[in-house]
Amino acid sequence: MSSQALRPSAQRVDDIELLEADRHPLTVQQLRQLMGWTYGADGQLLADLWHGFNQTLWDGKLDPAPMWMPTCTDWGRWIGLYRGNHANQTLSIQVKWQLSEQARADILLHEMVHQALHEARQCTKHNAVPWCQEIMRLTQEIWGVQIWASPSEPRKVQGKSTRVQKPSPTGAESITRKQIASWPHGIGLHVPIQHYLGRIIDVEPEHDALSQRQMLLEAAHG
Ligand SMILES: [Zn+2]
Repeated sequence: MSSQALRPSAQRVDDIELLEADRHPLTVQQLRQLMGWTYGADGQLLADLWHGFNQTLWDGKLDPAPMWMPTCTDWGRWIGLYRGNHANQTLSIQVKWQLSEQARADILLHEMVHQALHEARQCTKHNAVPWCQEIMRLTQEIWGVQIWASPSEPRKVQGKSTRVQKPSPTGAESITRKQIASWPHGIGLHVPIQHYLGRIIDVEPEHDALSQRQMLLEAAHG
């Protein structure tokens, strides 16, 4: 069998990647263990942040899924990637490794907006109303800042094709299409990490991934 035949049928659709794949449920505790096992404290921090965002910003409705921190990405084209399946489940979230803790937190939040939209069976594109509404809501909720985000649409103005973004009902201009696609760092906002870590789950010490790893290492070395 050629490597070509083994390649999964991944498709970039609506600014996310769709894969024909089933998935098994994962608990938050398992996610934290998995992340600690694979990436140590950085991984656990990402799992804790995922949980903090989920509890606080999405009422705990999102489904835990593995997160990967690749050291490089195909052609450097992305720094974060959300992958779901055709059953509107989340398969994985990827956050590029060589970035600061702050950058990873910002990227995670961005990917979780894709997650929330995909799981709710809404359009996951940046340049669409559901994405714009969600980032307006979150910008207000997290930073107390009001922004207006509106998809850019093709229009004919005096016979010429152009793209326009509708102003808000009160006449405020939209942030740019590029800023919408790179929210939140695209508008200069960064997640207050400590605030969301204050909402982490109780993980019993014996279930802590790092201490478990230590125990296994000690057992292996006699
Ligand atoms: Zn995106």
